[in-house]
Amino acid sequence: MTDIAANLADIRRRIADAAAAADRKPADVTLVAVSKTVEVPGLEAALAAGQRIFGENRVQEAEAKWPGLRARHTGLQLRLIGPLQTNKAKDAVRLFDVIETIDRPKLIEALAKASDQAGRRPRVLVQVNIGREPQKAGVDPDQADALIDAARLAGFVVDGVMCIPPAEGDPSPHFDRLSEIGRRNGLAQLSMGMSGDFELAIRHGSTHVRVGSAIFGARG
Ligand SMILES: *Cc1c(COP(=O)(O)O)cnc(C)c1O
Repeated sequence: MTDIAANLADIRRRIADAAAAADRKPADVTLVAVSKTVEVPGLEAALAAGQRIFGENRVQEAEAKWPGLRARHTGLQLRLIGPLQTNKAKDAVRLFDVIETIDRPKLIEALAKASDQAGRRPRVLVQVNIGREPQKAGVDPDQADALIDAARLAGFVVDGVMCIPPAEGDPSPHFDRLSEIGRRNGLAQLSMGMSGDFELAIRHGSTHVRVGSAIFGARG
């Protein structure tokens, strides 16, 4: 059985160590526990261990799992880290505090409309297709500044930028490119780094590491 509390403690320690090694404060790095495919008992274990910030990649799955948990736990922050279709914008606005996957103008329009209707506006990050991979979501790096401007113009608070670097090769140059996009747009948050590379991402300035399997075990 996966010991979620022990894994969380281990990841928190490794985050603190990586931050210290990079001359950064551990508190400057936020752990987003990626709980896609994890069922409610696993989520309860993480909540009991003090985790309050979670990432989900599907609107429907989040809808099934989180409203009940929100009723029982305070201080939760739910972040959407998967691709969002415009026809799910309304549900996403209702469920998520932060949407990390803003990647096209049409989605900004849909979310602005849904937010106005709901009277609730999630904070957002712009997802950048940092390795320019055809199969991956995210705005082209050259279009990122314009999309950040568009999101701001539509009334969103843009907290930062997010990326999933190519699976092959050293992610360092990709982390640095995302960091540069964040810097030149005056953005505080860099969402980068997963189970396999979060320490490296912290060395390259990550403020939000998205860690799933290292906490909850391998996904089936
Ligand atoms: C699944 C997922 C993660 C977590 O990946 P692990 O390798 O399990 O840590 C992080 N970010 C995104 C966007 C994901 O879809």
